[in-house]
Amino acid sequence: MRLRNIPGSRDVIANSPWVIQKPETLRGSWKSVFQNENPLHLEIGTGKGRFIMQMAQEHPEINYIGIEKYSSVLLRCLEKQEELQLRNLIFVRGDAELINTWFADGEIDRIYLNFSDPWPKERHARRRLPSADYLRRYDRILAQDGEIEFKTDNRGLFDFAVEETAQSSFAITQITYDLHNDPVMNEGNIMTEYEEKFSKKGNRICKYILRRKGATGNPI
Ligand code: SAM
Repeated sequence: MRLRNIPGSRDVIANSPWVIQKPETLRGSWKSVFQNENPLHLEIGTGKGRFIMQMAQEHPEINYIGIEKYSSVLLRCLEKQEELQLRNLIFVRGDAELINTWFADGEIDRIYLNFSDPWPKERHARRRLPSADYLRRYDRILAQDGEIEFKTDNRGLFDFAVEETAQSSFAITQITYDLHNDPVMNEGNIMTEYEEKFSKKGNRICKYILRRKGATGNPI
């Protein structure tokens, strides 16, 4: 999602109390931002923020961090957050390739990847957020029992993501190729902006949940 550049969006972000300006300075101490010991969940590529805002409203016992690369997109999140003032939600504007400089090993409890950009050219495969390269980055920041949830309507990207887990330290614990018609995995599902748009067109939504191999759970 690349909205047109909105003049002033960088200034709004630089002055927003809801955006962490230097995430690397909080490495290892993110719980201090929220002033509690609640689990930390990330959404990478948060877009306009509907998913993470609804999650934060429904789960005040969890702290949420939304990561978004583009200022003009993050601006939409901030407009809503100014209204809602959710104390368990903050944002980082930046590229997730820096994630290991922002978060310490084992600091994060769950990562959500929702409708990640497909980067269809093979030479860009390493930029795909569920690629093996990214799974290695997530492996470092996730707690031992941490989870990764990924959903998309893009079957090619999903098949790639499933294949990439084979070279990773993660195992698939749950998987569906038709989320909205899977009563178990769809329970409590919160739709993202892209999910609503593409499911309205009739596209099926794929989803997996990953846990470390050997962690408690039921690897498939
Ligand atoms: N998650 C939202 C949804 O499901 O409606 C937005 C999906 S949109 C296709 C992907 C979003 O991920 C875009 O807003 C894009 O800017 C962001 N993004 C892509 N690569 C990123 C990266 N490396 N770091 C942070 N954000 C990224």
